[in-house]
Amino acid sequence: MKPRAVPPISDGHDRPDAEGAREDAIRRFPRSRANLKKIMAAYSNGLIEGYRNGKFVVWIAALFPVELLHGFDLVIAVPENHAAMLAARGMGAERAEAAERLGFSMDLCSYARVDLGSHLETDIGGLPHPDLIISDSNNCSLLVKWFDVYRRERNIPHFVVDVPFCYQPQRAEDRAYITSQFRELIGLIEELSGQTFDPDSVRRAIRHTNEANAHWHRFLSLARRRPAGITAFDTFAHMAPFISAHRGTPVHADHFRIAADEAAHHVEDGIYPVPKEKYRLLWDNIAPWHQLGAMSRRLTELGAAVVYAPYTGCIGTIEGKVERLPADNADPLDTLARSQNFTVTSYGMGLRLEALVEAVEKYQIDGVIFSSNRSCKVYSVMQMDTARKLKQKTGVSTVFVEVDHADPRKYSEEGVFVRIEALLEEIGG
Ligand code: SF4
Repeated sequence: MKPRAVPPISDGHDRPDAEGAREDAIRRFPRSRANLKKIMAAYSNGLIEGYRNGKFVVWIAALFPVELLHGFDLVIAVPENHAAMLAARGMGAERAEAAERLGFSMDLCSYARVDLGSHLETDIGGLPHPDLIISDSNNCSLLVKWFDVYRRERNIPHFVVDVPFCYQPQRAEDRAYITSQFRELIGLIEELSGQTFDPDSVRRAIRHTNEANAHWHRFLSLARRRPAGITAFDTFAHMAPFISAHRGTPVHADHFRIAADEAAHHVEDGIYPVPKEKYRLLWDNIAPWHQLGAMSRRLTELGAAVVYAPYTGCIGTIEGKVERLPADNADPLDTLARSQNFTVTSYGMGLRLEALVEAVEKYQIDGVIFSSNRSCKVYSVMQMDTARKLKQKTGVSTVFVEVDHADPRKYSEEGVFVRIEALLEEIGG
């Protein structure tokens, strides 16, 4: 491995004054908060060190099963995670504007604009330069095009895992199709990096993820009680290890254990995120990264606890479910292929509705905030019909608000809260 000069890297750690919004959301759990800061800083430093030491660098889509890559010794970076961290630290608008100056449309996903702005405007900085990029089609087609910009600009190989969209639980032939692509990818990484794939490391990684998911669902389940022991904002704040190279490692499992234990102790001590809980809400769509602190504070003042969000509730599940699916580790590639449908963007309205109905019942939801997000069309496009059907099936009240997950220029706090307050009025109580 040849040593390399350190590239410009920034994930917002150099912007302490802008950390407030995200930090506020995790202040309630001091031990988990300290651990999260420590492990995510170690992750950033590991990217720099690995790059400097000449290790093979791979960028992956957040939904790609990073456990597979633990079968090699790689530096693994996740551009979506990078964009979310920058947005949470108040840097979303400036980075998005940098991409727009280069000609990328404001209508593109803000994760893509924040990331492209970071990497293509030379003096801003971003992640260590990749040797290989891996995207997948179960996010959206935009992500494939976004990653492909780097293939064109930097002449880097780009491997796209094609995950079939599904309207039913995943079919055996679809799983076999995904598995065959994993095998092809393993061969490509062996060829490019000169390393030999180690399937036992992948088995270990799946075990760590499985353990982490069990703790995650223990954490989530604290929101089922009244008053809720955690809110979805806590899950947004603490999901980071799952969408980083920590996933599938003891660090990932430990962090979710620490968070679940600390939250459980708070409940035992009678400490609740919304002490005067009057309304129990569900948030549908990606976390509003630039508003975590401000939005959760204002909701708390209104007595409204957002107790579930499919965005974080789906971790460890498969399509259309709320409960965790323990991994069967007999065939690691098959197991990872099966897990490809855990997130809502990879399946159709019927399965999304099924999961929402189950969540409304299990989390005793009074109202649903459908966050219509122009950046993420694939998440938002079915919301109108889903809301109508959800109301028919459960009678739950619903409201639509407009929130872009990483671009605060497309957010109006007053506009959003006028609607949320109307929802609370409709729920009454
Ligand atoms: S459009 Fe949605 S699914 Fe696609 S990259 Fe952006 S946030 Fe992810």
